[in-house]
Amino acid sequence: MNTHKLATKLIHAGAEPDPGTGAIMTPIFQTSTYVQSAPGVNKGFEYARSQNPTRKALEEALAIIENGKHGLAFSSGVAATDAVIKLLDPGDEVIAAADMYGGTYRLFTKIFEKFGIKFIYVDTTDVSNVEAAISKSTKLIWLETPTNPLMNITDISAVSVVAKKAGAILCVDNTFASPYLQNPLDLGADIVMHSSTKYLGGHSDVIQGALIMKDDKLREQLYFIQKSCGAVPGPMDCFLVLRGIKTLGVRMKQHCENGIRVAHYLRNHAKVERVYWCGFEDHPNYGIAKKQMRGFGGMLSFTLKDNSIEAANKVLSSTKLFSLAESLGGVESLINHPASMTHASIPREERLKVGLTDGLIRLSVGIEDADDLIADLEKAIG
Ligand SMILES: *Cc1c(COP(=O)(O)O)cnc(C)c1O
Repeated sequence: MNTHKLATKLIHAGAEPDPGTGAIMTPIFQTSTYVQSAPGVNKGFEYARSQNPTRKALEEALAIIENGKHGLAFSSGVAATDAVIKLLDPGDEVIAAADMYGGTYRLFTKIFEKFGIKFIYVDTTDVSNVEAAISKSTKLIWLETPTNPLMNITDISAVSVVAKKAGAILCVDNTFASPYLQNPLDLGADIVMHSSTKYLGGHSDVIQGALIMKDDKLREQLYFIQKSCGAVPGPMDCFLVLRGIKTLGVRMKQHCENGIRVAHYLRNHAKVERVYWCGFEDHPNYGIAKKQMRGFGGMLSFTLKDNSIEAANKVLSSTKLFSLAESLGGVESLINHPASMTHASIPREERLKVGLTDGLIRLSVGIEDADDLIADLEKAIG
């Protein structure tokens, strides 16, 4: 499977016909336990927190599409992140991106800090900031690129060199790019994390997370955490993500095309102040985006010239095709207000420090007809 091109891998990875029945699609193994012919004698499945055949098929698919060796599926994206932090001990330090998903920041600051893990937030778009924050206790570097919602890009290869020198694990949240646009393991990362809820699932009908890695020992440690802590996804949800992955290629192609159209439309709009999208040649990290990504996806944010909450609210509540909702990466377009919705868990001063202003509007551009999406925005922005 690893010799095939990505579009083929997306369809076939992990999907062997069911040996018992010949079913082309992996069945939903809705079972909690498996019969043993004698104590300890089983067919590789004992109890569904530890192993489930639907989950196994998905985990194999995840490994293949991210060019990894092992995949692990979790009950949510934050559960996957939680498992990575549980590799650490009290006193260990994590260097993390200053601008990232609000729920990741909340997990780090509100849950793990009290267990004695120290998080240092830096602007990772400049690798020298990461280097400067390294200490003897640095055990993990956590990147998100592109970032949610400001679309900043960090050079994964350059940070991986710093991580290796420091003996730290590099984990990259690849949710925004999806494996279709970026493969962090190829760029030197040790672990790739996904909120499968987003582009992998692709239809806004499931909550799930994933970790993918090459290293056998890291897989053993993370599998031990997965089964010991128990944040595993159910078989129905694994089936849905497996199904979503099959169309990731065609969906992402359209997300990218529509993203280009909407980004340029907004940039030329008289009432728009700034568009945050990494596909513009004058984006500060455009060179790196071009180098490490195969396209720019369907995520972008923008501010109006009237950067007040009231003006943003008017747009947020006027679109019809763009539904006002958290989340992203589904086939349908969504509009979001990070300051009050997805990133409300980050204190306002912290948000403003990284440029996440009260008036910022985030779009997840879906795969509808781009003309209709632009007409919808035109009516709302006025
Ligand atoms: C949504 C999201 C998460 C969290 O994933 P859940 O599936 O909601 O738990 C993490 N990182 C990014 C970039 C996200 O967009």
